[in-house]
Amino acid sequence: MPPPVFRFAPSPNGYLHLGHAYSALLNFDLASQQGGRFLLRIEDIDVTRCRPEFEAAIYEDLAWLGISWETPVRRQSEHFARYREAVEGLSAQGLIYPSFESRAEITRLVAEREAVAPWPRDPDGAPLYPGVAKSLSLEQRQQLIAQGAPYALRLDIEAALARTTDLAWREEGAGPGGEHGFVNASPQAWGDVILARKETPTSYHLSVVIDDALQSVTHVVRGRDLFWSTSVHRLLQQLLGIPRPVYRHHRLIEDASGHKLSKSTQATALRELRRQGVTAAEVRRLVGLPDGSRTTTGGC
Ligand code: GLU
Repeated sequence: MPPPVFRFAPSPNGYLHLGHAYSALLNFDLASQQGGRFLLRIEDIDVTRCRPEFEAAIYEDLAWLGISWETPVRRQSEHFARYREAVEGLSAQGLIYPSFESRAEITRLVAEREAVAPWPRDPDGAPLYPGVAKSLSLEQRQQLIAQGAPYALRLDIEAALARTTDLAWREEGAGPGGEHGFVNASPQAWGDVILARKETPTSYHLSVVIDDALQSVTHVVRGRDLFWSTSVHRLLQQLLGIPRPVYRHHRLIEDASGHKLSKSTQATALRELRRQGVTAAEVRRLVGLPDGSRTTTGGC
């Protein structure tokens, strides 16, 4: 049996904080305990928000925590052609359509609908896409694109669901409602998700599943805030014909007032803690992990 493959996949759009430390250390510990491999992947598809200094800080902070990873590191911004190819494949199957409304227009459309009746929200609390772009004719689409209109490429969730079965996944951690074991995906809860935009030929959902498959990741261990995104990931894996990893969604590290940590709060940034003299061993204790010499890893 090939060894299990774990990964930590941060976005370099801010400094890593204690929540990232927990996720990275948990992945690294699990890989070490199981004789597995540990990969680091830089998820930098948002070229406007990702910055080289944040990427450099990721390498520095992880090394300080005592983590080592295989090289070369996969940087998503270097693989846009690969993601574009996948979008084209889905498009050729009639599973993708362009939508042209701006964010402001979408907000207005949602407000209009909500004035009449409640409008559905996705698991992150954002309203589902209310537009009618799916019913535009091919000529109308081509014309708008030729005019240079900005667009988002959306997955036609209805058509996609009609093509797929067996979207369940094995959850070794727990979802927000305690979901564990075999979990049934419900990608329809997200509506027609965006898979790419005119200026960015991919999205988080698309590149994460492609890369996990290309890198032979067997265990996706990440924060519970991404639990329901797994529904979309399972759907894409089925549509793209790629394997299903095991998932383990772990608890989130919260601040003193019980909020999820944010990259914009300097107080829990690893480099700030380091500057204050906190040691890597203390970080392990702060996030509730046993010290590096013990072999068992606390659960989720
Ligand atoms: N890049 C994502 C983040 O920084 C994590 C993706 C994942 O682990 O699936 O939140």
